[in-house]
Amino acid sequence: MSEYPREYASVEDARRQLLDVSPVLDVEEIDLRDALGRVLAEDAVSDIDVAPFDHSAMDGFAVRTLDLAKATEADPVELGVIAHIGAGDHLERAIESVTTARIMTGAAVPAGADSVIKIEDSCTVSGEGGIGSIISFTAPAISGKNIRRRGKEVAAGQIALHAGEILGPAGIGLLSATGHPTVQVYRRPRVAVVSTGSELVDAHTVPGPGQIRNSNSYSLGAQIIAAGGIPIDYPGIEDTYEATKEALTRAAQECDFVVTSGGVSGGDFDFVKPVLEDIGTPYHCKVNMRPGRPQTMGVIKETPFFGLPGNPTSSYVGFEMFVRPALRKMQGHTELTRPVIHARITHDAKKHQDRRYFLRGTVRRGDGGDLECTVEGDQSSALLRSVHEGNAFIVLPEGFSPVPAGTEVDCIRLDVDEGVEL
Ligand code: AMP
Ligand code: MG
Repeated sequence: MSEYPREYASVEDARRQLLDVSPVLDVEEIDLRDALGRVLAEDAVSDIDVAPFDHSAMDGFAVRTLDLAKATEADPVELGVIAHIGAGDHLERAIESVTTARIMTGAAVPAGADSVIKIEDSCTVSGEGGIGSIISFTAPAISGKNIRRRGKEVAAGQIALHAGEILGPAGIGLLSATGHPTVQVYRRPRVAVVSTGSELVDAHTVPGPGQIRNSNSYSLGAQIIAAGGIPIDYPGIEDTYEATKEALTRAAQECDFVVTSGGVSGGDFDFVKPVLEDIGTPYHCKVNMRPGRPQTMGVIKETPFFGLPGNPTSSYVGFEMFVRPALRKMQGHTELTRPVIHARITHDAKKHQDRRYFLRGTVRRGDGGDLECTVEGDQSSALLRSVHEGNAFIVLPEGFSPVPAGTEVDCIRLDVDEGVEL
């Protein structure tokens, strides 16, 4: 049995128990183009200096500051153009005294030159501005001006990105520049979505008498993708002991994590808990929250298991609060929970039960500039619209104290990523 023998877990305990049994997954090498959002599993060292050479930040003229030291409006200095350098060119010869090279943005600054003067700050005295032209300059040059230095981003042998960093578009660009067409990242979990319920039919079927469409397998599948996982569907499992056992056994063998929906209450046809007791180890079967008290958690052999209630909103909330952090941990993330902000509730809210409430609502800035929150529509756990239209869970703590309008409450921001400071 687990070190957490309690049947009835607090939200914090339930989350910790699930995190404890959810391992960080192994590492895989993937194409850099597929790496968006993944967590780097090893330090990425640059094989070259980035930038690889000093290059011009402007279209202009590469000059020696010494040559232009005395240049003024009244007494300009004239230099002869000896080369025309574009990006990708490499000039073998150096810029010698009283000469210049016309140079384009991104082109390597030639030896001898130590400054680039913008075209706009020069005047062509003869020729078209290219090789053989004479250019006049009316002010001294500043050493290093308009030159982007070799190795400024990262030097050869230095760590460009560290293990544990999340790969965004800019990080992916850096990895490309530093010679990493493939990267080592933590694997994405394959997550079984086992939808129990003899009443369930798929979205393309018109339900017959007593039947409903299986919306949880779709919403959970989307939540898994949003959390970085790969959903594997086990749809419409009949409410029998045998069918439930067969599905859970197979799912635990084939996947890294098993989520079920439905069948976790004490009804005559709820078989998830007895099957878990048979083929795995239950840790807790209830969490002190609303919606979704019957959240059943445990392991099947080594595979983490989380049984969500069937009501669509209960399932949605349970996934957000417990499964999403676990899936993030498995992918190497260290920021596991959504940002919580304080906002004043715009209306009275009552507590009928001594459980933590997660009301589906909206946080916004009021006319005075302060954050306020409002519960959305009908809060029935059977109805998804309140989640769809809201952007937060409004948290009312355990106990029965009513929450009058104007009270500051915690709001879990569902529209903001973990680790973002608000
Ligand atoms: P249960 O947790 O199995 O007692 O189900 C609670 C309620 O959620 C019942 O009204 C079920 O019909 C409904 N339900 C169960 N599974 C699903 C599902 N996959 N999609 C939509 N509703 C469901
Ligand atoms: Mg059911």
